[in-house]
Amino acid sequence: MNPLQRQQGALRIEDIALADIAARFGTPCYVYSRAALTAAFEDYRSALAGRNALICFAVKANSNLAVLNVFARLGAGFDIVSGGELARVMAAGGDPARVVFSGVSKTEMEMEQALDLGIRCFNVESASELERLDAVAGRLGKVAPVSLRVNPDVDPKTHPYISTGLKTSKFGVPFEDALALYHRAAALPHLRVEGIDCHIGSQILDPAPAAEAAGKIIGLVDRLAAEGIAIHHIDLGGGKGIRYRDEAVLSAAEYLAPLLQITAGRPEQLLFEPGRSLVGNAGLLLTRVEVLKHGEGKNFAVVDAAMNDLVRPALYDAWHDIQPVQSRPGPGQPYEIVGPVCESGDFLGHDRDLALAEGDLLAILSAGAYGMTMSSNYNSRPRAAEVMVDGASAHLVRRREQISELFGQEAILPG
Ligand SMILES: *Cc1c(COP(=O)(O)O)cnc(C)c1O
Repeated sequence: MNPLQRQQGALRIEDIALADIAARFGTPCYVYSRAALTAAFEDYRSALAGRNALICFAVKANSNLAVLNVFARLGAGFDIVSGGELARVMAAGGDPARVVFSGVSKTEMEMEQALDLGIRCFNVESASELERLDAVAGRLGKVAPVSLRVNPDVDPKTHPYISTGLKTSKFGVPFEDALALYHRAAALPHLRVEGIDCHIGSQILDPAPAAEAAGKIIGLVDRLAAEGIAIHHIDLGGGKGIRYRDEAVLSAAEYLAPLLQITAGRPEQLLFEPGRSLVGNAGLLLTRVEVLKHGEGKNFAVVDAAMNDLVRPALYDAWHDIQPVQSRPGPGQPYEIVGPVCESGDFLGHDRDLALAEGDLLAILSAGAYGMTMSSNYNSRPRAAEVMVDGASAHLVRRREQISELFGQEAILPG
């Protein structure tokens, strides 16, 4: 579902003109569509209809409380990677019994917090984490539900920074070690083996690697059952890609079809951890052109958003569509769309054909995932405001940071 339309040249999200949002909340500003978030979730839900399945939104893709709350109201679970994310899920009305805790290392404090709240499962990623979790749970007089994140050694054919299921990856436990580690987990007194999980990467456009990984995981589940270790859920992670430019994107039903076929008739509950595909196309970054520089061979449009607001272009050379909020008649010219940060890597788009004047608004599309959550205060830039549109209403869901807040926790030396 695309929440954007153009009317008389003016770009609108749901029933509101983006120019009105900029006038009311300022720029740079992230804008999310509740309808698009809901549609993305329903796409998964309908693909999983009739199956015993739980959709756990990967909080790191977008952890704004309003976004989490939209998913909590729809009955989502959550995939978290830190105590901070767990606190956000609780503040947003999420159900801890539907939370899975991923991540290559968890502190004892994070383990205690999650055990106290009674989360659904810890996705454990190493032998030493098993021992540590057992010790922490024992200290609290609790039993920790665990799943092992198994590394199926499958290449998802995506960007190397977001490939996570190869043998050489820091994530998960090696496939060959999994059996022995499950036996260890089953023997530890304060752990309860609950499930198994894998997550092979992100922005995956081809369902075959996920299906291959699932096949390997299921082979392991059957082997474990034969050795007396019952697995109650199979968590197949996230990773489904979205359209940034012209990628051929599958619906959730198409993407999940091979997985659902492989797991058909099995008793285990299925868990999924989608992040990007639930929020990516539901958000945009609204920015204003501050300065146009027409130079030898290159034209620059310096906008008020920068790599600190949206780092994906600088970090992964990611491509985001950039649209004028009000289209201008006449021919465009190629522009480098850059921010004011003191780095040559500070760009949002290369070589974009646009007809621009200073003061124009631009919408950087598909910025709902790994946008605000990866933002920083580099160059002492306050973080952008976030707005959620719901029909004809726009709600400020995070006010723009104030400059005084940037150094409010700092101190100078005495004397
Ligand atoms: C990042 C991550 C996800 C979500 O990945 P997407 O590509 O955003 O769907 C799911 N599970 C784990 C363990 C992750 O690290």
